[in-house]
Amino acid sequence: MNSLWLSDNEIFKNLDLDNNINEDLSTDVCVIGAGIFGLTCGYYLTKLGYKVTILEKSDIASKATGHTTGKITSQHGLFYDYLTNSYGHKFAKDYLDANEEAIENIKNIIDEEDINCDFKYQKSFVYTTNKEEFPFIKKEYQAVSNLGYNCELVTKTGLPFDIVSGICFKNQAEFHPVKYLSGLCRCIAKRGGKIYVNTTAVDVKVDGSDYITYTKDHQIKSKYVIIATHYPFINFPGFYFTKMYQSTSYLIAVDTKKSLFNGMYISSSSPTLSFRTAIYNNKEVLLIGGMDHKTGHPSSYKDTYGKLEEVAKKYYPHSEVLFRWNTRDCISLDKIPYIGSFSTSMPNMFVGTGFKKWGMSLSNVAANIVVDKISGKYNKYAYLFKSSRLKPIKNHDELKNMLVQSANSLLLDKLKRPNMTFDEISNNSGSIIEVNGEKVGIYKDENGKIYAVKPICTHLGCLLSWNDIDKTWDCPCHGSRFNFDGKNLYDPAFKNLDTYDL
Ligand SMILES: Cc1cc2nc3c(=O)[nH]c(=O)nc-3n(C[C@H](O)[C@H](O)[C@H](O)COP(=O)(O)OP(=O)(O)OC[C@H]3O[C@@H](n4cnc5c(N)ncnc54)[C@H](O)[C@@H]3O)c2cc1C
Repeated sequence: MNSLWLSDNEIFKNLDLDNNINEDLSTDVCVIGAGIFGLTCGYYLTKLGYKVTILEKSDIASKATGHTTGKITSQHGLFYDYLTNSYGHKFAKDYLDANEEAIENIKNIIDEEDINCDFKYQKSFVYTTNKEEFPFIKKEYQAVSNLGYNCELVTKTGLPFDIVSGICFKNQAEFHPVKYLSGLCRCIAKRGGKIYVNTTAVDVKVDGSDYITYTKDHQIKSKYVIIATHYPFINFPGFYFTKMYQSTSYLIAVDTKKSLFNGMYISSSSPTLSFRTAIYNNKEVLLIGGMDHKTGHPSSYKDTYGKLEEVAKKYYPHSEVLFRWNTRDCISLDKIPYIGSFSTSMPNMFVGTGFKKWGMSLSNVAANIVVDKISGKYNKYAYLFKSSRLKPIKNHDELKNMLVQSANSLLLDKLKRPNMTFDEISNNSGSIIEVNGEKVGIYKDENGKIYAVKPICTHLGCLLSWNDIDKTWDCPCHGSRFNFDGKNLYDPAFKNLDTYDL
């Protein structure tokens, strides 16, 4: 499941990381999570002279950022027609400008700090091969043009197949996200910031005008806290679990044995297909991504990696798949990220989440908003993403889906009898069975060795579902994931599952 980006251990060589906090600490800002958002905050804050302590549950870039596609763009699918219609011209224009600035901010960091991360300006395209979708492309083109942005309506691209129509944004970019994060880590350490890996934050509490972040054994006192855990692991206050879901997408990296095209591409409708090139072992390879579905909803190899491999074989018959990986991202119900104070009762604790699969640019927007807030500077884009917003959710279908899913996983599915018995589970597969009226999650490995877990999410108690592609237990409510042996892999849960001795 490791990505092309994480395949090179050299990238992390000689990083100044700590494995253990062995005493209580005091710092200006405690950042929880070392993905692109947490490390970008750490970068800007240490540059301003703040004392920063970063806690990372696992390894640097090991979650969403290490498994992304790595396109840095303000073209977030077909989005600006939706934004203009839902929130008005100024809102849509500011959103576009904020993301355009983010591309330049990232380029400036890379240049200023001399970070070698394969950054390259590219054109970005959203396209369709379906005539019926042309009106949506045209509307989006008009919406973007009305914002004063110089995009182009095209009928030809570098892709190895014909399109009906597409929109091209110039001066977008691609990079190697893990090399970029490694560069940020070096800058943070150089300026005195401390990064602790394999260190899980389990709670944050208010302490007068300060905050205390708790790990298993120690406390970190700080003036400010930044929750950069992707999906907030604190449920109350904030209530983010009522306003976001997670969506999984898949990627393959392919040696096509042919020369490749320029540009980055994404299809306009779901399930999306996404394309870009990247460098692996000094050679250009093709990344094909897509086949998204809600995290925790069972899917098969055939419907995910299988479909991506079909695309590769269709256009590059002699191609060889080098890597397969997947990850998830948080999607808010109104499709706008949550950036700013975590809640009105915890104003100096900040959050950046809901990047809806466009977190390369949005994490930079978010870091600038949060860092400006901490340093008392006005940020003209902060109003777009206010995390305490209470606007009515216009996306009724998503809201209904999410509520029905949560009700099922929290209650109704727990009452249903599983349709599998222990003997019916084949080797290298898993399922939920019932033992003495209790639900038990069983996985039998290739040799028949049995792993039994309590299939109840340690985040908020939803019934988990078996993911046969990755051999994991996944939460259909909020997207937490656990290994077959119960080890917690992905947020918002941070505790392992209970296991049964056999
Ligand atoms: C398949 C796919 C492709 C994508 N492609 C693109 C793309 O091309 N362009 C783009 O702009 N965006 C893309 N995205 C989105 C982008 O990858 C994410 O928005 C972004 O990486 C999120 O970064 P993050 O820092 O918020 O989260 P993460 O990278 O997940 O970082 C959060 C960190 O917090 C840590 N953590 C969690 N809980 C705790 C805790 N309790 N204590 C301590 N640490 C904790 C985690 O271990 C993790 O390292 C894609 C998303 C997907 C799913």
